[in-house]
Amino acid sequence: MSALLVEATRIAREFDYPAEQVRRGVAEYIRQADEGLAKENTTLSQIPTFVTAVPNGTEKGLYLAVDLGGTNFRVCSVQLHGDTTFSLTQSKIMIPRELMASGTSKDLFTFLARQIESFLRIHHNDHFEAHQRRRANNAAVEDLFDLGFTFSFPVRQFGINSGTLIRWTKGFNIPDAVGHDVCALLQSAIDDLNLPVRVAALVNDTVGTLMARSYTSPGKTGTLLGGIFGTGTNGAYLEKIEKITKLDSMKDVHYDKSTGEMIINAEWGSFDNQLSVLPDTIYDRQLDEESNNPGIQMFEKRVSGMFLGEILRRALLALHNDPQIGLFKPSETSKWGLDTSLLSLVEEDTAKHYPAVKAALKDHLKIENPSDEECEAVKILVHAIGKRAARLSAVPIAAVLIHTGKLQTDELVDVGVDGSLVEFYPNFEGYIRDALREVTEVGPAGEKKIRIGISKDGSGVGAALIALVASKDE
Ligand code: ADP
Repeated sequence: MSALLVEATRIAREFDYPAEQVRRGVAEYIRQADEGLAKENTTLSQIPTFVTAVPNGTEKGLYLAVDLGGTNFRVCSVQLHGDTTFSLTQSKIMIPRELMASGTSKDLFTFLARQIESFLRIHHNDHFEAHQRRRANNAAVEDLFDLGFTFSFPVRQFGINSGTLIRWTKGFNIPDAVGHDVCALLQSAIDDLNLPVRVAALVNDTVGTLMARSYTSPGKTGTLLGGIFGTGTNGAYLEKIEKITKLDSMKDVHYDKSTGEMIINAEWGSFDNQLSVLPDTIYDRQLDEESNNPGIQMFEKRVSGMFLGEILRRALLALHNDPQIGLFKPSETSKWGLDTSLLSLVEEDTAKHYPAVKAALKDHLKIENPSDEECEAVKILVHAIGKRAARLSAVPIAAVLIHTGKLQTDELVDVGVDGSLVEFYPNFEGYIRDALREVTEVGPAGEKKIRIGISKDGSGVGAALIALVASKDE
């Protein structure tokens, strides 16, 4: 074997995440999960969502959902047909830059309410006009649309439809909104325009993923866990209320306790920030040090789409910088510039002379005519980084299955997942399953009981389902 392939194989081995480490990871996850249920300010936040029921596919009705989380604002209406199917109508509007970072919260939320108004005028005009007429005649207001508000920024939640903004991220910066209830801000802008809409629920996207899967999944088992493996990674699962002991300090919050269960937003991207069990290569360390939040989101930095390309870039650079080896120079792209979709393209290509790898290297790294051997070296590294991410993803999944005792029943356990990584990286689920079988308490028998399905559109149908649960909960 050439020096290049020997060295690539050596680096790849640094990304090994063997069974024994998976088991240690699971044990530590369970410990941190318990701690997060008992108190505040723990590594795993384990945020109570006050959503206390998951759908079974028979839910019916027309609901609204809006999603504010990045460059676009999405408005949709969802008709739940009650037979696990739904129809969705949506519009997407780019948020003007000046509203994201320089105006007031009133400017932003008025803009959002106006988008809801035009959506209603276009798609639900009868309902909209009937409401306006009743208002004009001072008649009783009825038939409000219940709306689920997906708001993908850190919030402290105080009930199913209230939560205060902790801080803005992703380029938003409107200081006067921080510390305020974002549902109340939206409701007030909606009321100023006399819209027939009630903000019924504040929605986290992982909770939406879980709910959407539970509604659409075949059979009537109900979904236990929703996980996102996209730009970031996070999960939400169904927990027994009696185990969420930190709720004792929130006695004044009203919510329906009859099911005895509540969805917890784990915020597992920050699992093991102290690195007691997570694997840690030199590439992980460099990436973290040069990130804008060192020491934070350490699990996410090893698993999600935002980071895997950068880990690869650093490993390729190590091969390039080794004078004995001289791999092509990958630093043409700037830091953080290597998209994780490259990993999927490279992993997929098993053809002779690697045509897809060559095309991808040209597109992503401006490398002209790499040799077959260089392509093979890239494949070796990609495979190691992608497989480690998938095996790490098995850790929270196994931990939740064990911790909730769900594997001890005879039923199938349903898990809904979303995100480009799990959807497109070849065999991502297969690697997750390999690792799950290696966990003693899961084993091959437990792994067979786990059904994993893609759950799309958590912020549409998922948010609508949470609005439905919230409206029943009054
Ligand atoms: P989001 O999580 O932002 O809602 P996605 O689930 O599409 O959206 O995830 C986007 C992330 O997935 C980006 O980090 C991107 O690099 C990565 N990505 C996009 N396409 C692929 C692919 N084919 N394979 C693996 N990762 C991908």
